[in-house]
Amino acid sequence: MLRLQKIAQRNTPRRLPQTIAKASQVYGRRGFATASDPYEVVVIGGGPGGYVAAIKAAQLGLKTVCIEKRGTLGGTCLNVGCIPSKAMLNNSHIYHQTQHDLQRRGIDVSDVSLNLANMLKAKDDTVEKITKGVEFLFKQYKVDYIKGSASFVSPTKISVALNEGGETQVETKNVIIATGSEVAPFPGGGIEIDEEQIVSSTGALSLQKVPEKMVVIGGGIIGLEMGSVWSRLGAEVTVVEFLSGIGGAGIDEEIAKQFQRTLSKQGLKFKLNTKVVSAEKQDGKVVLKTEAAKGGKEETLDADVVLVAVGRRPFVDGLNIEAAGVELDNKGRIVIDDQFNTSAQNIKCIGDVTFGPMLAHKAEEEGIAAAEFIKTGHGHVNYHAIPSVVYTHPEVAWVGKTEQELKASGVKYNVGKFNFSANSRAKANLDSDGFVKFITEQETDRILGVHIIGPNAGEMIAEGTLAIEYGASAEDVARTCHPHPTLSEAFKEAAMAAYSKPIHQ
Ligand SMILES: Cc1cc2nc3c(=O)[nH]c(=O)nc-3n(C[C@H](O)[C@H](O)[C@H](O)COP(=O)(O)OP(=O)(O)OC[C@H]3O[C@@H](n4cnc5c(N)ncnc54)[C@H](O)[C@@H]3O)c2cc1C
Repeated sequence: MLRLQKIAQRNTPRRLPQTIAKASQVYGRRGFATASDPYEVVVIGGGPGGYVAAIKAAQLGLKTVCIEKRGTLGGTCLNVGCIPSKAMLNNSHIYHQTQHDLQRRGIDVSDVSLNLANMLKAKDDTVEKITKGVEFLFKQYKVDYIKGSASFVSPTKISVALNEGGETQVETKNVIIATGSEVAPFPGGGIEIDEEQIVSSTGALSLQKVPEKMVVIGGGIIGLEMGSVWSRLGAEVTVVEFLSGIGGAGIDEEIAKQFQRTLSKQGLKFKLNTKVVSAEKQDGKVVLKTEAAKGGKEETLDADVVLVAVGRRPFVDGLNIEAAGVELDNKGRIVIDDQFNTSAQNIKCIGDVTFGPMLAHKAEEEGIAAAEFIKTGHGHVNYHAIPSVVYTHPEVAWVGKTEQELKASGVKYNVGKFNFSANSRAKANLDSDGFVKFITEQETDRILGVHIIGPNAGEMIAEGTLAIEYGASAEDVARTCHPHPTLSEAFKEAAMAAYSKPIHQ
C-alpha cells in the first residue's frame, strides 16, 4: 500500500473538538468575581492532578482555590513518590556505578563509601525545592491556596479544617476532586506497616540504615524501583511476587522476561508465583511465611526490612462524599463519565482517586482537561497514549498495546526489534543492554505499541507516545532523520525493522 494511502487510512478527525475549543476560549482573562463571591472552581487535593487543574483553571480566568491538607503541595508524587524515589534511584545508581563500573572505563577510584544521611538529605532538599516551586506557581497564576482538610457540606459548599486550627467554609460553582490514593494494606490484613521494619514505599524512601536483607512483597514498578535502590546500596534483596512475571500490569511479557534476567544479574532475587502468608517480628528480624500462589510448597524467609508494595487504593477519607452525592464503585474509586463528571452535577474528579493508571502524568493531563471542560465544554485525554516507565537501570518504558493484548483481541500485527548492542552510542557508553520493540498494525503499519528496555528508555518513550498520539506509522518514524550517534537511532531502527529491515542489525 502506498504511504499516503496508509496515512489517510489511519488518520481520524479526533483533534476537531480541541480545535473548536481553542477557537472559542479566551485565554488569560480573569473572572470578575470579588473576594466575597463564590469560587468558580475549588480543587480538593494539591497533587499533580489537583495543582495542575488549579493552575490551568486560573490561567483560563476562573477564580480558583486549591485545598491541600498535607502542608506542602505536590501530593504523593512530589512528597513521597515520583520525585524522592527518582532522587534515590539516581544517586544510588551513581554510587553503584562508581563502585562497580568505573574501572573498566579507565577511572580508578578508591575509598568509595556511602554517606546515607547525605543521600537522604539530597532527596529531601530536592523535594522541598520542588514543592515550594509549585507554591510559587500558585502565586504567579493567582490560585488561592488553603492548607487544611476539605469535607463537603453540600455539592457547592465545602468546610475546611485548617491545619493551623479553626475552620473555614468556601462556596463554589464547580469542584474538582483530586484526593489521590494511599498505600494499599496487605491483602487479608495480618501484616502491619510500622514504617521502620515493615515499610510502605514511604518508609522505604527514608530508611536510616542499609538493611542486610530486604524482602519486597510485590514485583510491580514501585517494588522494583525501591528494591533496586537498596540492592545498589548493599542490601540483599528478594522480591516475592504472586504472578508469574515482574513489572506489573501493562508490561509486555517479552520485556518482563528480559527485565527479570537483567535485574537478577544485578543481584536481585525473585520468587515468582509465590504469596506471602504472614510476616512476624522476631528477635529484631521479620520472619515471613510464603507458599506457592496456587497453594502447596511452603517456605520461610527472614529479613531486616520488609517492603509491602502491593499497590495503592483511592483515597476519599474525611471528604464526607455522601453530602456531595458522589458515587463510588466497588473498588472505592469515584465514578466518572468521559468528561470527568461525577454523579453530582457540578463536581468533576481526576487522578488516582478515579479510574485509570495511577500515574502522575495521567493525573496532570486530566487536570488540564477537567479545567478546560469547565471553562469551554471541551477537553481531551488520549488514554491510548499514556506512557509507563520503570526507572531502574536499564530503564523500562512502554506505551500502547502489548503483544499479549493484541493476541487476545485477535489483531494482526508486525513486530520490529533493534538491540542496543548494535547501537553505536550505547556501545560507546558501555551501556548496551536491552532493545526497542515496535508493534504495528499489519494492514496499515500504524504503531500500536512501543516497548523499550535499555538506557534512557524513559526519555525515549516520549517519541513513541508522540508517534501514537499522531497516529504515525513505523515508516513515518523510520523516515524521520534521527541524530547520530544517539540512542534514539535504536528507536528509528526498530521502526525500520517493523516495516522493512534495519540497517545496522
Ligand atoms: C513511591 C512512588 C513512586 C512513584 N513514582 C511515579 C513515577 O515515577 N511516575 C508517575 O507517573 N507516578 C509515580 N507514582 C504515582 C504518582 O505519585 C501518583 O499517580 C500521583 O501522585 C497521583 O496524583 P493525584 O493528584 O491524583 O493524587 P496525589 O498525588 O495522591 O495527591 C492527592 C492530594 O490530595 C490531598 N488530600 C486528600 N484528601 C484531602 C482532603 N479531604 N482535603 C485536602 N487535601 C486532601 C492529599 O494530601 C494529597 O496531597 C509514584 C507513587 C509512589 C508511591
